[in-house]
Amino acid sequence: MLKPLIFTDLDGTLLNHHTYEYEVVKPVIERLKAQGIQVILNSSKTLSELAIWQQRLAVTAPIIAENGGVIQFKWDENRRYLLGTPYADIRSFIKHLRKANDWKFEGFGDWTVAEVMNHTGLKSADAVRAKEREVTEPILWQDSEENFKAFEKALEKEDLILKKGGRFHHVMGQHDKADAMRYLTELYAHEDQLPQTLALGDGGNDLAMLQAADIAVVMPPAKGQTLQIDGAYYAQAEAPWGWVEAVNHFYPEESLPSLLTGLNN
Ligand SMILES: [Mg+2]
Repeated sequence: MLKPLIFTDLDGTLLNHHTYEYEVVKPVIERLKAQGIQVILNSSKTLSELAIWQQRLAVTAPIIAENGGVIQFKWDENRRYLLGTPYADIRSFIKHLRKANDWKFEGFGDWTVAEVMNHTGLKSADAVRAKEREVTEPILWQDSEENFKAFEKALEKEDLILKKGGRFHHVMGQHDKADAMRYLTELYAHEDQLPQTLALGDGGNDLAMLQAADIAVVMPPAKGQTLQIDGAYYAQAEAPWGWVEAVNHFYPEESLPSLLTGLNN
């Protein structure tokens, strides 16, 4: 029988938004692994940032970075699958637009590590990892609203979009966390049967992923509105405790003995 796949956002879903607490999740991930259930990190962070979390959480599944734009396969460190537009192409296009129109904006690619630290509040090593980008460029717009609309139009012609994040606007291709989830789910398919998918998230960039999953788990957001999804499971506790609560609800520990019995027979 095909084992389910768990796709999870990180910030505010598996990690506490304020304290970054995550320890209670580790034994659950261990137990799921023993049951053959993979936990796939699906975040807006870069691959370099996620590599740290992959180690801390001891997950062995592929990881999805930059809002579904790139997948890293754990079993082949050199194999990356890009669903998004390569970073160098995004940079050269927006630099061209800036020069041709005399627009004022800056992005991660314009900044030194120290400047990224200033703009994000990240520590030095984390700022280095945040600069190692594959498919999305966070920018600060410093020009008029009117020019912003013209910028958005010009990007559209190159199949690029602007996605609003907490601090920045992200210039990226038309990809989403849901696209990468679908791609991986099909990779794990067996004889035309797709594995069951459970997705957990708390923010607007998780919406499509949660709608596309067989089971959606909505986490209470640290700030702003709770996502509204038909038929979703709403975790009561904040991250990471709500994550544990929801995963134990759908894939309880009790199913382990019967599974092992099944293997022995
Ligand atoms: Mg989040």
